[in-house]
Amino acid sequence: MGNINFVQKSNLFSYTATRCLRNEYYHNDCTLCIDICPKGAFHIVRNKLTLFENECVECAGCIGSCPTEALEIESFDPNAYAAAYQHSEETPILSCKVTTPCLGVFDVEHFTVMALRSGKNVTCDMSHCSGCVLNTNGVLEGSIREKIEETNRFLETIQSPHRIESIEEKEEESGRRALFRKGFEKVKESLSESSASLVSMTTAHHKLPDQKMPLKRILLKNSLKEIVTELEITQFPESTPLFFNKQINFDTCTNCGECTQFCPTDALFPTSDKQGIYFSQGKCIGCGICEDICKPKAITAKEGFDLVSIAYERSEQLVHYEMVTCHECRCPYPYKGGDPVCDRCASFMKSNANMFTLARDL
Ligand code: SF4
Ligand code: SF4
Ligand code: SF4
Repeated sequence: MGNINFVQKSNLFSYTATRCLRNEYYHNDCTLCIDICPKGAFHIVRNKLTLFENECVECAGCIGSCPTEALEIESFDPNAYAAAYQHSEETPILSCKVTTPCLGVFDVEHFTVMALRSGKNVTCDMSHCSGCVLNTNGVLEGSIREKIEETNRFLETIQSPHRIESIEEKEEESGRRALFRKGFEKVKESLSESSASLVSMTTAHHKLPDQKMPLKRILLKNSLKEIVTELEITQFPESTPLFFNKQINFDTCTNCGECTQFCPTDALFPTSDKQGIYFSQGKCIGCGICEDICKPKAITAKEGFDLVSIAYERSEQLVHYEMVTCHECRCPYPYKGGDPVCDRCASFMKSNANMFTLARDL
């Protein structure tokens, strides 16, 4: 059994516990990697995710599913691959047989980046999935297909002409392999030449203590920046599994700041005077921690997304309060009108009203 360390390694595969949502917030119940791992190598030990190194077969199928990039494999970096994809003259086919590990290594962000940056359709070789020994009960294949569908729904919504396509039939091995390999060599070339800065950004990313936004979202944001001026519509009223939106109820929020403290990507952050809360839609990974942690349930999901705000990392102020001193306890609190008495004192006075009346009458 593995120990609970900050980084757990099984040869090339590693899990960094400090990036896991379960580590960020005790009550978080993310099971995305557990659900997808065909070997059951992840376990919950004392409410923390633990990798049993001996059970991991390093297929990389779980990597794309982790919203916070807590899972990595030394031999393949999906961010570097997606960033370099556009430089390839002959678009490579994504195939676990030649170019990549299991296609589960990619997330919706990676597929979207490849389609937007290359300006072409991206082809995934799915012909081996159903017969793959790792595809227990169709879980791995189902997850890859779901990500492809989500990507295509998003591309359709923003009226991009490009899609993620799939090859379903096994083709003549020799010719196909040669084509895959040719494409892969092109990507490798571009990784070593024109994409050197992107790769260094990728490898440096995890060393930056203040970099909380997953690199796959930074790549996506930069890709959107390149195309957003060409789009006819940039604001969409509906939801997409890729972007999340939030609202805060002014009347019930107590400005306690818990949501801003626990948001793993700093998508929610306080105003400089600490009297309000901003939200940056492009940074939100939809983990739900803010909604869960908010005691008065003031923060809720909202429909719609704005590509300009996402691309340029614009933030929206969700609430702002004037802080005043409570006349009872002398503590600052967010004033919402009426007598200057904070919620805690008001509720104390209400629940002890009989006692106050008795004391006054004595
Ligand atoms: S998918 Fe990522 S955040 Fe979720 S439990 Fe696994 S390592 Fe933690
Ligand atoms: S939204 Fe909830 S958690 Fe955030 S400051 Fe307001 S009351 Fe606190
Ligand atoms: S805003 Fe909420 S759902 Fe989004 S990343 Fe932060 S805590 Fe998670």
